[in-house]
Amino acid sequence: MRTVLLGAPGSGKGTQGVVLAKKYDIPQISTGDLLRAAVSAGSELGKKAKTAMDAGALVSDEIVIGLIRERIADDDAKNGYILDGFPRNIAQAEALDSMLKEMGQPLQGVVLLDVAFEELMQRLTGRRTCKDCGAIYNVHLSPSKTAGQCDSCNGELFQRADDNEETIGNRLKVYQEQTAPLIGYYQAQSKLHSIAGTGDIDSITTAVGAIFDSI
Ligand code: AMP
Repeated sequence: MRTVLLGAPGSGKGTQGVVLAKKYDIPQISTGDLLRAAVSAGSELGKKAKTAMDAGALVSDEIVIGLIRERIADDDAKNGYILDGFPRNIAQAEALDSMLKEMGQPLQGVVLLDVAFEELMQRLTGRRTCKDCGAIYNVHLSPSKTAGQCDSCNGELFQRADDNEETIGNRLKVYQEQTAPLIGYYQAQSKLHSIAGTGDIDSITTAVGAIFDSI
């Protein structure tokens, strides 16, 4: 099942991606996670990406398209994947389409997690992520049972460097200007499924799962 989770920063792509990847036994492929790993490892690619990430801007298309090309060729992605945070603009979507066309394995569906803009800031400033398993919490909305510690694996929770108000403002602007046009792009391909990304996390998972089951 070759799918994309589309939505603004804080719309729940990562949260849903982790759960759905387990449920469907396919990898969640997050360009943000791949880039953060490269930054932590101090690789050349990480050094190139860091400045844009710290500013809440997009990393170059060349870098992220290269990362995706390699990652979807991995063995664990042969039965499909959930792309999270890619594509982020029309050029990336076109590159993805042509890459998948060459492989004879086009995208099957895109799910838009629709969340009101006002809610995103609170979600992003309160977000905490488990270092070990990637589970996502929110200190305001869905805190872990013990502060700073993951409920499922006891891993340490951290706050992302780009989850501060100034950078968040820029990331939301970048989303509106560069990523939101993908809604029309995938609508034109009859691949877009839109669901409300608010409310109970499990109900959202069920709604996305129903779409995955139908494609
Ligand atoms: P995310 O974890 O998806 O919120 O991404 C964090 C940051 O990584 C973004 O603000 C961008 O700087 C960078 N990034 C992630 N995915 C992409 C992408 N597809 N294209 C360009 N930059 C990206």
